[in-house]
Amino acid sequence: MPELPEVETVCQALKPVLEGQAFTKIQCNRQNLRYPLPLNMEGTLKDNTITLVVRRAKYLLLHFNHGLTLIWHLGMSGRVLIEEPGTSSVEAGKHDHVIFITTQKFKITFNDPRRFGFLLIRATDQIENSTPFNSLGFEPLSDCSLNTGKLYASLRRRAIPIKNALLNQNIIAGIGNIYASEALWQARISPLRLANTLNLEETNLLLNEIQDVLRRAIAAGGSTLRDHIQPNGNIGYFQHSFKVYNRANMPCHHCQTTLLTKMNQSGRATYYCEKCQQ
Ligand SMILES: [Zn+2]
Repeated sequence: MPELPEVETVCQALKPVLEGQAFTKIQCNRQNLRYPLPLNMEGTLKDNTITLVVRRAKYLLLHFNHGLTLIWHLGMSGRVLIEEPGTSSVEAGKHDHVIFITTQKFKITFNDPRRFGFLLIRATDQIENSTPFNSLGFEPLSDCSLNTGKLYASLRRRAIPIKNALLNQNIIAGIGNIYASEALWQARISPLRLANTLNLEETNLLLNEIQDVLRRAIAAGGSTLRDHIQPNGNIGYFQHSFKVYNRANMPCHHCQTTLLTKMNQSGRATYYCEKCQQ
């Protein structure tokens, strides 16, 4: 599932292709994904210049010069394909739901087999005040106001397992199931610990490890991007090498002796080392 680093990588790939350009054609091959696609998306956006492409939490935001923003969520399985002019295959694939053509004739395809992704159009100046953006928590890498004290204060109010707290987008935005497990393992904190039992030192360590796993994943995505974007690069989803995620019954990389445990927390798989994480 695309989490913050994957969405950031897609954002970085789309930026040079879209900023300063416009869509000359938007082809919708179905009417709905998780939600109905915007009515007359092509008529609403076509020929208007895209001024800025940014990421907020797991959302891509394409701001247009006429005061509208296209909100794009990749869902569980969304992939974005950027094809250079003249390199495109002719036929759209079964899960190629939306195809954008830019002024410079780049073809951008949104492929999403499970269709949990979505596209919405909103007035740019209303985004921060509307759901879900008005309740999103700290942006873990770029929010200058995020520090150990703020996170500690936020966690103090939550008598829920720290793993679940990390998945709560109203505390920190953009962390999903994979990087929550990875950060807790790096910080040697049990996913079962209640969030309000972490002390200041542990909170500081956890924040550092969250930022570390996200930065390393973005760097890996960036290198994947350089290797694979041209031509016909699929930039939606990468298989990173994870330290604990999906490694049940394999040795822990900290202690080398304990086999990693997989358990279920609120319907989501959690991977951890029973010995190293307390
Ligand atoms: Zn261990």
